[in-house]
Amino acid sequence: MCGIVAVSGIDHAAELTFLGLYALQHRGQEAVGICAVEDGTARVLKATGLAADAFDDEKLKRLPGRTSLGHTRYSTAGGPGLENAQPLVARYHQGDLALVHNGTITNGQVLREELVREGAIFQSTIDSEVIVHLIARSRRETPAEQIAEALSRVVGAFSVLITVGDVLYAARDPWGFRPLVLGRKAGGYVVASETCALDLVGATYVRDVEPGELLRIEGDRLESLPGLEPASRKAPCIFELVYFARPDSRIWGASVDRARRAFGRQLAKEQPADADCVFSVPDSSNSAALGFSEESGIPFELGLIRNHYVGRTFIHPTQEGRDFRVRIKYNAVREVLEGKRVVVVDDSLVRGTTSRGLVSLIREAGAKEVHFRIASPPVLSPCYYGIDMPTKEELIGSQLSVDEIRDRLGVDSLGYLSLEGMESAVAEFGPFCNACFSGRYPAPLIDLERGYAAASCG
Ligand code: AMP
Repeated sequence: MCGIVAVSGIDHAAELTFLGLYALQHRGQEAVGICAVEDGTARVLKATGLAADAFDDEKLKRLPGRTSLGHTRYSTAGGPGLENAQPLVARYHQGDLALVHNGTITNGQVLREELVREGAIFQSTIDSEVIVHLIARSRRETPAEQIAEALSRVVGAFSVLITVGDVLYAARDPWGFRPLVLGRKAGGYVVASETCALDLVGATYVRDVEPGELLRIEGDRLESLPGLEPASRKAPCIFELVYFARPDSRIWGASVDRARRAFGRQLAKEQPADADCVFSVPDSSNSAALGFSEESGIPFELGLIRNHYVGRTFIHPTQEGRDFRVRIKYNAVREVLEGKRVVVVDDSLVRGTTSRGLVSLIREAGAKEVHFRIASPPVLSPCYYGIDMPTKEELIGSQLSVDEIRDRLGVDSLGYLSLEGMESAVAEFGPFCNACFSGRYPAPLIDLERGYAAASCG
């Protein structure tokens, strides 16, 4: 998964892009990059790690111009190396081109093989690079037509931002899997994965970029161009609301916080528990746990505390064991838990390894009964549209029944939110892609059907 942001028609665009990436850091921590364009010349800086560590005033000064775009990358199958960091920059016949992509293309391997057979040379292993080649090879006249033609050949999930010279293009795939919002600032435009990025750069939300839409933005002039072939149905990702997006963002027209609270309330109706307190696994399930508490009347407590300074790659040299990674990240508040019957709300169960560790922590802190509640249905199938998920064999919900998972976690009771309950809680913003919960994939999985391994996502 990734976060993307672009700025057009505003001085010091790279600085705003940096701020946007800072707000979108939760969408990817593996690598970061910013490209800025001045008088048609694109300059790019990329680094592994976090935006705040990678950029400083001096580096941003090396990126002049009023057009800019940036990317934060999540670690995926393609490997975390710098060669897979974005923006991708190419010098092609229309000038300098830069591209950032969020999503996974489901025919990326098929297209890559075709392009390689025709002589294309790839610099990275990410699927996003095929879009660059398709644009460069298009025989259409204008960059806008070339981009539209290239994107019409690509299947699957893409929210993309592209600059050709100083002109910015923004597009979403016809299903609209991944979010992309448009904001206005000081006579220019900002486009970003989530509204929390608009808030930080001081831009006002205008609207979502629509599924299948292609926008052309030159300075402060915005045009919506003839877009892509519409999909049979829109399919924005419901997992963005469950886990991925920030709760202070609005995506799919919904407040992420309100959506999560609605999931928590519905969960309390479907899976009630007799308990003394309810708490979240911070931070991703805070809103859902509040919703559970509001609906059930069970007091909300802070039973688990998260250490915010844990890097993703932290490995302690001496301590090992199943629970240790969890213990680095979370600790239990004994004063809250001792002698209590507790409800623990988590947003989702993926592998189940975090929850197992959490339950032993909670028991050791003296909880009398542990009732685990999940504010989404069992994750049954991998995502091929950009959320980094393990294989089916590693998904606990696809391998074990709810009773077996309860025993595996060692809890007194376990309850999931139903798929119907989850969708009804946010029905006005759907319909959604729920493939990870249902196994029903709205866009064809072309690479997979042809026997390729899942692509590395952009
Ligand atoms: P586990 O069940 O141990 O795999 O961990 C599940 C927890 O990880 C969930 O409660 C989420 O907060 C978080 N999570 C869910 N999906 C993802 C994902 N695709 N990448 C990283 N963390 C995730």
